[in-house]
Amino acid sequence: MSESPAVRELLAVATQRLGGSAEARAEAAILLAHVLGRTRSWLYAWPEFRPAAAAGARFAQLVEARRKGQPIAYLTGSRAFWSLQLAVSPAVLIPRPETELLVELALARLASDLPAEVADLGTGSGAIALALASERPAAHVLATDASADALAVARANAQDLGLANVDFAQGDWCGALAERRFDLIVSNPPYIEAADAHLGQGDLRFEPAAALASGADGLDAIRSIVAAAPRHLRPGAWLLLEHGWAQGPAVRELLLARGLAEVATAHDCGGQERVSFGRWLP
Ligand code: GLN
Repeated sequence: MSESPAVRELLAVATQRLGGSAEARAEAAILLAHVLGRTRSWLYAWPEFRPAAAAGARFAQLVEARRKGQPIAYLTGSRAFWSLQLAVSPAVLIPRPETELLVELALARLASDLPAEVADLGTGSGAIALALASERPAAHVLATDASADALAVARANAQDLGLANVDFAQGDWCGALAERRFDLIVSNPPYIEAADAHLGQGDLRFEPAAALASGADGLDAIRSIVAAAPRHLRPGAWLLLEHGWAQGPAVRELLLARGLAEVATAHDCGGQERVSFGRWLP
C-alpha cells in the first residue's frame, strides 16, 4: 500500500484543482486546516505530516465542492464577523465585512452601560444582534427572522458565545415585534434588484434568495420596514438600514417621507453609501 500524501502534496494538488492562484492556495489551506482541526500556520509548519486517508478523502470532497462554487463559509460552517466566530449554514446569508459599519453606527447610538431595547430585523446568522449584544451587555437585543432555520442558527450562535441578553422571534420584518417599542432598530435586509446579474454569480448563487433580493428595485423589504418602524420606535430612537451602494437617495427619501428626522447616510470602507438612518422624534 502506498503512503498517503503529505500536507504539502495535498495543498499543491488542491491549489491546482482550484485554479492555481494565490487565492486558490489560501482556500485550499483553509479547507485542509478545517478538516484536520488545525490552523493554517500549523499546516505550513508541518508540510511533511501525512493525514489519515479518511481526512484526505474528506478534503478532496470539500475541494470539489469549492470547485463547483460552494462558498468557503458553508464548507467550513463558520465565518468571522466583528470579534465573533459565527456558525453559518446555507439557511443564512454569509456575514459581510461591510455590515460591520452598521454595528459601528448602532454602537455609537447605544450608551455603553445603560439598558436599552434593540431589535435586529432579519438577523440570519445573528451577526449584527450578537455583535451588539456582546458589546453592550446592559442592552437587550431581540433578533428576528422569517426563517425558522435561520433562527436556529442564530440561537445556536448566541448559546455558543454565551450571550444571554438576546432573544429571538419569528416573523416578517416589524411583524415579529408584536406591540413592542425599541430604542434602536437595525436591519441588513435583502436589497438586491430581483433581476441583478450578481445573483447568478459567486457565493450569492448558494445563499438564501430571500436574504438577498427584494423586488424589482430591491427596496421592497426596506419600504416595509420603514413604513412600520415608527410604531416600534420610542421617542428619540434610531432606525438604521444597510442598503445597496446606489440606494442611498431612495432610502433617505423613504425615511424622510415617513417622518424620521436627522436622516443621513454613512459610507462603507469602499467609499460607497451603505447605511442610512433616521431618528423618530414624534
Ligand atoms: N451586501 C450583499 C451583497 O451584495 C447583499 C446582502 C443583502 O442583500 N443584504 O452581496
